Amino acid sequence: MKIDDSSILVTGGAGYIGSHAVLALKDAGYRVVVIDNLTTGFAWAVPEDVALVQGDIADQNLVEQTLREHHVRAIMHFAGSVVVPESVSDPLKYYGNNSAKTRDLIESAVRVGVPHFIFSSTAATYGVPDRSPIDEATPQLPINPYGMSKLMTEHMLRDVSIAHPLNFCALRYFNVAGADPLGRSGQSTAGATHLIKVAVEAALGKRDHVGIFGTDFDTPDGTGVRDYIHVSDLAAAHVLALEALIAQPRSNLVLNCGYGRGFSVLEVLDAVDRVTNIKVERRLEKRRAGDPASLISDNSAILAALPWRPAYDELSQIVADALAWERKLSDGHPSK
Ligand code: UDP
Repeated sequence: MKIDDSSILVTGGAGYIGSHAVLALKDAGYRVVVIDNLTTGFAWAVPEDVALVQGDIADQNLVEQTLREHHVRAIMHFAGSVVVPESVSDPLKYYGNNSAKTRDLIESAVRVGVPHFIFSSTAATYGVPDRSPIDEATPQLPINPYGMSKLMTEHMLRDVSIAHPLNFCALRYFNVAGADPLGRSGQSTAGATHLIKVAVEAALGKRDHVGIFGTDFDTPDGTGVRDYIHVSDLAAAHVLALEALIAQPRSNLVLNCGYGRGFSVLEVLDAVDRVTNIKVERRLEKRRAGDPASLISDNSAILAALPWRPAYDELSQIVADALAWERKLSDGHPSK
């Protein structure tokens, strides 16, 4: 339990991953303030006892006032745009929302003297790597503007941490899925494209089938393999990363976030069938542009750097929590 009056600023705290980080911080005893422009997030996703500042991370007056008023000692930065195909059709949105606005946010942090910064990076910064599992030294060669916009922020943070008294942690997420096991938050944005969300929607009759995007990959069953990580394990990693940055203010951290194992699309759909007791209809479809065959993390760095031990790393648990949240949305949760 933190007994001083400092806070952690969570940008994008009304969104999917950010709202889980808010819960994890609160559960660990931190004071939290959220800034979110609510374009994709929901005010109801922020707990009532957490201050919600509605606004933009690039509004430097607002951000700096918030940093000062709430005695912010660290920023967890989730706000941004996250849809890969959209980044291809509208790259300037991604370089604007993810790179340029983050530059302004970092500048505010430096001006006010916030010493720690935790950044949501992504395995998409690796592009289509020639090795598996993927460790942090794997060359970062993104194949879409989304990955590039996040890589640019990693570079900014590295340079800023040399020039100013700020250390940072970049967490490179693999495939994030699931929902808070206590049912307090989950993935709520409409128009989902991610496999587990799509599959539980299909199981609940919200769509009539799941497309399998490619069956001719060089993988054991021909479908794409991904390293799915439970959103609450990911949120826990953020709290531990924060504590590591505070303990070692001169060190930066760059860590993959995954479980170091992969499941194919067919294995995920089978798990959904088992958990729901419903057989979702599958339709074989063509590969999606830019989909690598397999993305599996080497997670030895995070296991060595942080006292992080995954608590929800069974695929069935990820699916069950995603399903429970989806049911809640169907039953008229405030998001409806
Ligand atoms: N996928 C699929 N059908 C869908 C959504 C995804 O077959 O409706 C596949 C996709 O081709 C990839 C894996 O599931 O192999 C994970 O895709 P997702 O969009 O969830 O995450 P990504 O890895 O693209 O970030």
